[in-house]
Amino acid sequence: MTFDIFSELPCAVLVTDEHERVVSANPNLNALICNAQNALFPEFMDSLLTRASSIFCQTHVWPLLRRNGEVHEVFLHLHRPNGSPLPVMTNIKKTLMKDQVVYIWLFFLALERSRFESELLEARKRSEQLTSQLQDAHERLRELNAQLEARMVVTEDANRSLTILTNTDSLTGLGNRRALESAVAKLGQESDATFSILMVDIDHFKTVNDTYSHDRGDDVLRDVGQCLQAAARQSDTLVRYGGEEFALILPNSDAEQSLRVAQRVHEIIATARPGGIALTVSIGAATAKLDKSHDIQPTLKQADEAVYAAKHQGRNRTVHRGSWNSTSL
Ligand code: GH3
Ligand code: MG
Ligand code: MG
Repeated sequence: MTFDIFSELPCAVLVTDEHERVVSANPNLNALICNAQNALFPEFMDSLLTRASSIFCQTHVWPLLRRNGEVHEVFLHLHRPNGSPLPVMTNIKKTLMKDQVVYIWLFFLALERSRFESELLEARKRSEQLTSQLQDAHERLRELNAQLEARMVVTEDANRSLTILTNTDSLTGLGNRRALESAVAKLGQESDATFSILMVDIDHFKTVNDTYSHDRGDDVLRDVGQCLQAAARQSDTLVRYGGEEFALILPNSDAEQSLRVAQRVHEIIATARPGGIALTVSIGAATAKLDKSHDIQPTLKQADEAVYAAKHQGRNRTVHRGSWNSTSL
């Protein structure tokens, strides 16, 4: 059966019955799917669709058609004899023709939509790839950060150890001259306070080395260090200033207090016999007020001069120099 009226329509038309059998098709449908001119159409319309479109029709389109009598803008793929699928937008309507229930299928090429869809899919795939690359990069960055932090911890530890090493005298374990600088910086935080310095020099130490041995001399230095430590208060700073010379910084101590500490040093050393040897020390003391520059060099120099004076006066004594009158113990 043919419906010639469709031959003139400017779109591809297919007519099926309610059993999905092909009733008629116009020349435009032939041209669309490149069917040979006048070639016979298959018995069922199913064969005109790709497999996916056929399943879609069975599960969605036909049930809707049977229920509503029409379906609009269905996206399908026609199956062409050469094998390549043809994207089409389809409108379908149920109608009566010559007393027979038929379904009229109008197909419109939808190449643009199909191209647009594949471009969208491609763009989505690309964006998913980029997202995953970005996540990988983030992950890598996190790892590198963790490594960096771990290395920083190691470096900080190493720096701390190095600082301790460079500020420590290896023989006595006391601070060295460099440690004195940080002690002075601490003093500086309490500006305007009175402080004193004791410079302690072992008497005739060269004779100890010469008489007993250099190693024994080292023992003496270690023991004298401990004696001074015992004489010092918690807040005082003790350093090995030079060969057999030690410096004690006494914060918040006036001349009288410094002389008391010095006296304690003389007594402890006399009792302790460092290295098993009876020996004495000469002490130079100096007291000053911290000025704004926190420069203790002048006070150190006074303490040094005071040691020299103590030696000159016969050793085993303390001489105080500074803003206060010279005193001798
Ligand atoms: P004075 O009473 O005038 O201070 O005489 P002194 O012998 O103590 O002073 P001097 O400056 O003549 O000698 C200091 C000696 O200390 C000389 C040096 O070899 C020794 N000395 C310096 N550092 C060390 C050390 O680390 N270990 C030992 N065993 N001796 C040292
Ligand atoms: Mg000396
Ligand atoms: Mg000496």
